[in-house]
Amino acid sequence: MTSRLNLSSRRQNVTAAAQLATVKSSDKLGRVRSVEVPGHHTYRLVLLSRLDSAPNTIIAECLMQTKIGMIPCKGNGRTTTCYHSLAAVRVAAEECGARVVGWFADEKDAERSLNLKQFAGCKIGRVVPKIVGKTINKSAVGFLWR
Ligand SMILES: [Zn+2]
Repeated sequence: MTSRLNLSSRRQNVTAAAQLATVKSSDKLGRVRSVEVPGHHTYRLVLLSRLDSAPNTIIAECLMQTKIGMIPCKGNGRTTTCYHSLAAVRVAAEECGARVVGWFADEKDAERSLNLKQFAGCKIGRVVPKIVGKTINKSAVGFLWR
């Protein structure tokens, strides 16, 4: 399962990136709307949004700062959700007193893990990337939070 291998290396990057990330804006309900994630030579701005119909789904649009302006992050796309987006979700969770306790290949993978005692009391969510105005449901990453 290559997607799992990819995810495991992204997991490590998420932890490091989240420590350096900063919240840029929140909505009236206190939910984080944008997070700046620094990188080696530039930074990413991750825009987070939710649908009223699917409150546990977070849509993440990752934009990279360049000399010509903000462009879509290449890590966010049809096969993967970039670690900047995952770091932004983690920061957003912490901002409202929650904590992301696990990342999974997809929602089903997360559901299977809910059987484990260590995840008792956790809720399941998913992160869906958005690129140039389009959400890419196939690339969803599951996460557990409490
Ligand atoms: Zn990104």
